[in-house]
Amino acid sequence: MNLKPLFDLEAMPGNERHDNGFTGQDILSVSQFDKEKLSYIFERAREMRAVVKHASGVDLLKGHVLACLFYEPSTRTSSSFIAAMERLGGGVIPITQGVQFSSVSKGETLADTIRTLEQYADVIVLRHPEIGSAKAAASYASVPVINAGDGTGEHPTQSLLDLFTIQDELGRLEGLKVAMIGDLRYGRTVHSLTKLLLQYDVSLRFVSPEILRLPLAIMNQVIDAGVDVRETHEVADVIENADVLYVTRVQKERFTDLAQYEEVKEFYKITPEIMKRAKEKMVVMHPLPRVGEIHYTVDSDPRAAYFRQVQNGMYIRMALLAMVLGKA
Ligand code: ASP
Repeated sequence: MNLKPLFDLEAMPGNERHDNGFTGQDILSVSQFDKEKLSYIFERAREMRAVVKHASGVDLLKGHVLACLFYEPSTRTSSSFIAAMERLGGGVIPITQGVQFSSVSKGETLADTIRTLEQYADVIVLRHPEIGSAKAAASYASVPVINAGDGTGEHPTQSLLDLFTIQDELGRLEGLKVAMIGDLRYGRTVHSLTKLLLQYDVSLRFVSPEILRLPLAIMNQVIDAGVDVRETHEVADVIENADVLYVTRVQKERFTDLAQYEEVKEFYKITPEIMKRAKEKMVVMHPLPRVGEIHYTVDSDPRAAYFRQVQNGMYIRMALLAMVLGKA
């Protein structure tokens, strides 16, 4: 038999990667991003938005594969990473419907699962209930690992999309008054966004029930950064001055004592009545899912930005995937 080579590799364009400072890098924490890097990501995200609006998608990541490994439930983070990869022409291994359908249910360790997935994939997105799990996974993997939430630790890609949304909606990041409301103790999105905001000239207001106050370690970082900060239990104390109202869900799954959860679960509800006292130009945001803390009748308020925030998540994740794979 005459075996003729299937491919002429010499004539084929190779997998050139350009080094943008992110190529091959893990994305584990917001501490990796300074203002210059943030502007770079946001500029790329705007280009991604333009290409989706213009052409739905593009072949920038054709032939590349993303493994999406989720040990905790997710709607937006998993779907937006999948949509992002597909709109860039890549493919996805979706382990997002519950690791019970993977070998994890047979007792496989995180290390072995990661070492397996990297044999197939060029990049791994991981959500896991333990703080530090993404960092551990990155130490096992030779491909980039992106932290999609490590327990009550961080959720860096969420806070990138949050910051991008604030800039998009209000046209600036400097000089803003940002109020974070709800579960500041367990809310990893609050932890990451707070750290990112410390790079800007902002004032921060933290509104929570006593038992859900911001962890001391993060509050100390806020104080060290010299930011104007105050804590309160009352939305009424912040509503009139806030440029950004960042509302979060009380995270039932993080409580060891459910009686405590019952006590605080309905502490806040943003309603049209409350919104009457807010500035005309401000935004209400939420990482979602909401479970009652923003009333549905607020959705038609033009200041309610949470679904635009969801869409921005896809553009930010398109930018990040293209960047870590050296294509943007
Ligand atoms: N979706 C966000 C997270 O994964 C917020 C939440 O679950 O309440 O952290």
